[in-house]
Amino acid sequence: MSGERPLGSERRAVSQLGPELLEQDLTRGSGGNVSVRNGDRFAISPSGISYEEITSEMVPVVDLEGTLVSGEYEPSNEMPMHRLIYEHRDDVGGVVHTHSPYASTFASLGEAIPASHYLIAYAGKEIPVAGYEPPGTEALGELAVDALGADHDACLLQNHGVIAVGEDGAAALETAVMVEYCARIHYQASAIGDPVIMDDDDLEYLLEMFGTYRQKGK
Ligand SMILES: [Zn+2]
Repeated sequence: MSGERPLGSERRAVSQLGPELLEQDLTRGSGGNVSVRNGDRFAISPSGISYEEITSEMVPVVDLEGTLVSGEYEPSNEMPMHRLIYEHRDDVGGVVHTHSPYASTFASLGEAIPASHYLIAYAGKEIPVAGYEPPGTEALGELAVDALGADHDACLLQNHGVIAVGEDGAAALETAVMVEYCARIHYQASAIGDPVIMDDDDLEYLLEMFGTYRQKGK
């Protein structure tokens, strides 16, 4: 019976977050992917299906070893990266991967996005860059885990795109939106002058304001 499949609300969240990526201009076609965790399993976008067509029934469920536990569709090819992030970050309940254009511009430059706008605090004191490894590999996932560390909720993937995480799928999507906004502002500010980069004290204050769930020791 389809109704007995696990992680119903997480699968529904994945099916609803996908179209949001398109609406918020964070990706095109079936690019990018999202996942939502519950304990030691997570629901993740199926591979190669456009977001409008994905129903919660089509969303595969995978465990933290990367084994498919439920579903008829193949998990996204970036499943290893999602899996490694959950394995290393107990506080993360949702992961959003995009190819959003302004953030991907900095990813192609191999440049971290500095704190030229206070909303960077959604991600940390900056948005760091993970180096390049081919899409879909464990090696790429390991670079993303290292770049995120314990203190960042987003990073760039060099020559590729963005990873954003949050306590659930909606929080991860919100962070992905903020990353793209900060990237756009930094690009625009750099085009007409030298952006003022915020100092450490101001950033610490903002992280306390924005990063409350991290500081509850989850
Ligand atoms: Zn990608």
